[in-house]
Amino acid sequence: MTLRRPTPLVAGNWKMNTTVAEGVELARSLRAGLDGSRVEVELLPPFPHLVPLAEALRGGTLRLGAQNCYAEDRGAFTGEVSPAMLAGICDDVLLGHSERRHILGESDELVARKLRAARRHGLRVILAVGETEAERLEGATLAVVDRHLRSALEGLEEVREQELVIAYEPVWAIGTGRTATPEQAEEVCAHIASRLDELLGEVASTVPILYGGSVTPDNAAELFRQPHLDGALVGGASLEVEAFIAIVRACESQRAPRAPSR
Ligand code: PEP
Repeated sequence: MTLRRPTPLVAGNWKMNTTVAEGVELARSLRAGLDGSRVEVELLPPFPHLVPLAEALRGGTLRLGAQNCYAEDRGAFTGEVSPAMLAGICDDVLLGHSERRHILGESDELVARKLRAARRHGLRVILAVGETEAERLEGATLAVVDRHLRSALEGLEEVREQELVIAYEPVWAIGTGRTATPEQAEEVCAHIASRLDELLGEVASTVPILYGGSVTPDNAAELFRQPHLDGALVGGASLEVEAFIAIVRACESQRAPRAPSR
């Protein structure tokens, strides 16, 4: 395996929370605390927030992403938003989140089509993968993660640096307060790293691998100390300014490249 050198990332998934006015206020407060961070920081607000947030974040270092997109560029898909519409407004798109797989019934095949569509429009994809509690109890965790990765990534045209992020999110840990132990998270993230080597070749060493599932300021540092965790996808705590800033600071202290000593 080549030496891994991904850029650390902390992304906040706001899910279906905040009005546009509240979202702009939250983004301004986060920008005030986090612009110039030594790790990448990204906000993933609901669709109606993207245009005003792009304006509120302009000229700063925070990235902006959407929580979803459709697999086609245009047409009779009522209620959907295409990657062609997102390109130029935001940088990234989150795909395969467990709430979309399990509540909204998205299949591996649909996630794979969305990923290809997003790539066509130059959006970096944050691909979420992870097992349910029943799958973990059956001992199927790594097989499920493999299936999510293979179905989305196999046969892709060359992936370049800054085009892909993987988020390992055990479904049983999302929004439950039951964070995976650092050892559980590390085991799966290390497995993802070796699978990415196989699926993507050399560029795999640049793909950040995030952990998501009840990350808080109290558990973040210990998670970020694990060698194969390059950051976090944060849900609930990303809506609280102080908590999200504290998680980013933990990532900076554990993962950011040290400033050269004089
Ligand atoms: C998520 O929505 O991706 C997530 C990890 O949520 P939470 O941090 O609330 O568990």
